[in-house]
Amino acid sequence: MQSSSHDTTANIPYIGRFAPSPTGPLHFGSLLAALASYLDAHSHGGKWLIRMEDLDPPREMPNAQERILEALDTYHLFSDEPIVYQSQRSDIYQQALDRLIKNNLVFPCTCSRKQLNVVNGIHFGNCYSVIDSNVPAFAWRFNCQSPTRLSLKQGDKVSFQDMLQGEFQQSLQQDIGDFVVKRKDQLWAYQLAMVIDDYHQGVTHVVRGIDLIDSTLRQNMLQAALNYPEPNYAHIPVACAANGQKLSKQNLAPALDLSNPTKNLWLALSWLRQKPPEKLRTASVKEMLEWGIAHWDIKVLSNIQSQAAI
Ligand SMILES: [Zn+2]
Repeated sequence: MQSSSHDTTANIPYIGRFAPSPTGPLHFGSLLAALASYLDAHSHGGKWLIRMEDLDPPREMPNAQERILEALDTYHLFSDEPIVYQSQRSDIYQQALDRLIKNNLVFPCTCSRKQLNVVNGIHFGNCYSVIDSNVPAFAWRFNCQSPTRLSLKQGDKVSFQDMLQGEFQQSLQQDIGDFVVKRKDQLWAYQLAMVIDDYHQGVTHVVRGIDLIDSTLRQNMLQAALNYPEPNYAHIPVACAANGQKLSKQNLAPALDLSNPTKNLWLALSWLRQKPPEKLRTASVKEMLEWGIAHWDIKVLSNIQSQAAI
């Protein structure tokens, strides 16, 4: 699609993404995150990408990748570029880690969870373990006290501005600590891989569930350390089951029904407070998405952390 140079909205670069991990099939909560990021991207004339975060084989469920992609297809949530699989990108992550090692921003560590329990599980400053050549496996941790260009850093406190949730603040010592970027079992940590892939894919806007807001400042620190730009963040509320627990794969939220996608799409638009008209209930998947893009207003989700699933 060509856009005129005078059309300002079309000229705002926008690349968004949805990045599921194949630990189970998509459920209603994951549809909300996928749909919100899709509608936000397309309503800005942007691109929307799918990335498979398949970095943790022990936690993966057989056929989960196929089921997730089948569900996204059924809901017509198509990636605008070929799907990226994190399991194929180890060399790229290693190159970034090598840069962090060279710049003294990470350090090797063998501290066990048990050793860290005495400090509330947060690794801050001194290592509680000694690295020697007899230790075959160690993790790489990011030194959270590294100098950083984080614009909203004051003493021990760091913060960022979320488009929906406003200023979000954490303490380096009590909330963040020296976090793992490569695990002792040699698997890549989610934080590092995500930051590198967002950069390489040119992601400008991250729209995801508020359950991930805790990770954002760690990701901002890595972006600063690797000299990557920071995307904009909008954390949408999470859907809760009747017992108040977040819908998640861990608490066995039911897999999305693929036999009747329009029913769930209408409910998802409604849950996202877009007020879909009753007559849209009988529309096709394509028409619902077009309506959603044309009417998308993310601001109605401001300052909401959770609401009951419909
Ligand atoms: Zn340590």
